[in-house]
Amino acid sequence: MRVLVTGGAGFLGSALSDRLVADGHEVVCLDNFSTGRRSNLAALARSDRFALVQADVVDALPVAGPFDRIYHLASPVTCSHHAARPIATLRAGAEGTRRCLDLAAECGAVFVLASTSEIYGEPLTHPQIETDPGRVNPIGPRSPYDEGKRFAEALAVAYGRERGAAVRIARIFNTYGPRMRPDDGRVIPTFVARALAGRPLPVFGDGACTRSFCYVSDMVDALVRLAESSYAGPVNLGNPEEVSVLDLASEIVALAASKSRIEFGPPLPDDPVRRRPDIALARRVLGWQPTTPRREGLRLTLDHFRKEETLS
Ligand code: NAD
Repeated sequence: MRVLVTGGAGFLGSALSDRLVADGHEVVCLDNFSTGRRSNLAALARSDRFALVQADVVDALPVAGPFDRIYHLASPVTCSHHAARPIATLRAGAEGTRRCLDLAAECGAVFVLASTSEIYGEPLTHPQIETDPGRVNPIGPRSPYDEGKRFAEALAVAYGRERGAAVRIARIFNTYGPRMRPDDGRVIPTFVARALAGRPLPVFGDGACTRSFCYVSDMVDALVRLAESSYAGPVNLGNPEEVSVLDLASEIVALAASKSRIEFGPPLPDDPVRRRPDIALARRVLGWQPTTPRREGLRLTLDHFRKEETLS
């Protein structure tokens, strides 16, 4: 199969591209390198089944079909980026998604949208289920990302209904692992980088708010299963094991054998209090559930960050 991965130089996109090339597919990665890194593609660049196109997904796409699958992952991701680049974030969700959907409809490709648990905002259900319509502040600091993804979901569904496009919507919950950037503002890479450097780990509020974390190879497997299924979604993909941010910080400090202390700061605006997916649907329609225990995933992530530190 010939596959387009937008955002393919990023953390998740490069791991997905690794898997697709290993499975024997031809992969075209499109990325503007706003947060993606060429080093993520170092091994893929040696494959004759891999091609890289540096471009912005909101512009006319400089790639020619046909494609059998389009995975649309290109988007600014971390809160610091939404705050700094709110228009680019909204445009990636709206115009970028529209361009990818047009291409998918033209080629008859299966289109997989990397949506997010953030569409639930401060959710009405716990754990979150797909029928929860979410509760999002449309003008808050997180709104460019949350509303951009909500629009992207609406657009994908509209292309399915009106143009018969084969869309699949993945609601991705926090995913972590090697190749996350230490400076990207997300909780695990921040904690890991700080623990390794012996610097304080920042915890906002009292640390009681919860998250659930899925290891990257489990998430890649879920995305591939979704693309190959006939289920349009949306489907929650994530690890249902919940952990408080404070416990996570202590766990990482212990695993890293670090002397870092925990530093409490004021709570972040619009930060959801609890986040945990109900994955009954993914279990049923994809036969999927995460298999990597958090301790093991964190150990692999710590190893990767240590290696990167040695190389830099
Ligand atoms: P990432 O920042 O590592 O990857 C995003 C990639 O998209 C980067 O390579 C970046 O350069 C590229 N990009 C951004 N804007 C672009 C544009 N306009 N045109 C072309 N390329 C662009 O982040 P990630 O964690 O790998 O996230 C990948 C996708 O998964 C995103 O859509 C994100 O919203 C979604 N997601 C991730 C998580 C997670 O926990 N990792 C959770 C929910 C959803």
